Amino acid sequence: MCVALGVDMFDCVFPTRTARFGNALTATGTLCLRQAKYKDDFRPIEEGCDCIACTSYTRAYLYTVVTKETVGCHLVSIHNTAYQLRLMRQVRESILEDRFPQFIHKFFKDLFVEKSAYPEWAVNALRSVNVDLVKAEE
Ligand SMILES: [Zn+2]
Repeated sequence: MCVALGVDMFDCVFPTRTARFGNALTATGTLCLRQAKYKDDFRPIEEGCDCIACTSYTRAYLYTVVTKETVGCHLVSIHNTAYQLRLMRQVRESILEDRFPQFIHKFFKDLFVEKSAYPEWAVNALRSVNVDLVKAEE
């Protein structure tokens, strides 16, 4: 959304700062790996991510170490940085291929599933740059 509004530089510490609290960024939302629901979850942080945290460790392992061992924060930081780099690469490619509005629609659909869950401020902000999240996808 920020890219659509013209921003091209972001808080460089966000992926690592949020990782220190056990939060992993994914296309379908943030996972709080401190939550007990991950103690028996043997999937990677994010399916399809090729970072070392996702290819070598499970959510269950990260649950056990994320708030206790420094390595937990390091692994989530590696994943979050990979996620953010991948996201920006996808944004850049969609702009170059002249399909950025469609990318935004898919990004929001993956993140929120239901249009009714889209934050009103985000809908209004994107509408100001002629991206209407509420109307049917193109
Ligand atoms: Zn990963």
